[in-house]
Amino acid sequence: MKKKMIIPIFVSHQGCPNDCVFCNQKRITGVRESFDEKKIRNYIENYLEDFKGDKIVEIAFFGGSFTGIHINLQKHYLEIAKEYIEKYDLEGIRISTRPDYINEEILDFLLKYPVKAVELGVQSLDEEVLLESKRNHKVEDVYKAVAYIKKTNIELGLQMMIGLPKDTLEKSINTAKKIVLMKPDTTRIYPTVIMKDTELETMYYKGLYNPLSLDEAIEWTSKILPLFYDANITVLRVGLQATEEVNIGKGIVAGPYHPAFRQLVEEKMLNEYILKIYNENGKRPITIYANQKLYQSLIGHKRKYKEFIKNKGLPIEFRKNDKINSLIFESGGKILDDIHIPKCFR
Ligand code: SF4
Repeated sequence: MKKKMIIPIFVSHQGCPNDCVFCNQKRITGVRESFDEKKIRNYIENYLEDFKGDKIVEIAFFGGSFTGIHINLQKHYLEIAKEYIEKYDLEGIRISTRPDYINEEILDFLLKYPVKAVELGVQSLDEEVLLESKRNHKVEDVYKAVAYIKKTNIELGLQMMIGLPKDTLEKSINTAKKIVLMKPDTTRIYPTVIMKDTELETMYYKGLYNPLSLDEAIEWTSKILPLFYDANITVLRVGLQATEEVNIGKGIVAGPYHPAFRQLVEEKMLNEYILKIYNENGKRPITIYANQKLYQSLIGHKRKYKEFIKNKGLPIEFRKNDKINSLIFESGGKILDDIHIPKCFR
């Protein structure tokens, strides 16, 4: 199967008159200047330098609200991308935008170009969270935008954030459940971090907002991610991508940022899963065989879960076995073959 490659072009904060409390797109994208034509071309050509048709490649306009950019500039960007898509036989164009910047007219315009996917920054499906985050749109705008996109053959992506002002674990889980019901093709989960030069930073210093701790963000996400996995929704990203600006002490003032956030979440999910199997097996001693990748996840970052099991005195043993594809559970000399191993650990 061909690997997928996304060429991300960040139209930094362009097209967005809004100022969501958490947003400083210039820092999130790591780009202070917007791309001009020469830069876009250089950037794409750089990515395509070694391209031999061996990957599925999309050109993506991320960072601002693409469909809010002046129509002439949108055309300009889309024409450039279209040229490369035709020349190299690439997959298509991916854009991200706000839910209230999508309607039939906008989609008709996008469909004149090889736009394959639209990702909506949903962030939350709770009115109070949207209000407190100054999103300036309502939950119903998300449903309207989704309905418009579903009438086309454009792939739908829905991004959510956790830990926004007035958010709770229950609200985040409800947002994820509602997203699942909308059946998007892809999703992304971003824990809220406090970026420099944002309203959230001011709120934080005034004691009006406290970010989730890293452990809380891992805990919340470990309850949300399986909802998407179970529904076969492709999770394109969990946690902010590391850039020079996206780092504690650089662009990030505080919050649950970790460069390997998804890995930490999946380790927690795996740990909870093995404890569940252990309990279901009547707390009898259990040995778990795992391939190299899953073995690392079993023991956890900095051996967190290996230590956890040791400190609790649980009779659970981990063994590495590169000949197996996934996980094998053995107890009392017998393989436990009547257990369901979630797809994400297979
Ligand atoms: S709508 Fe998007 S780009 Fe605009 S301020 Fe909010 S998060 Fe930033």
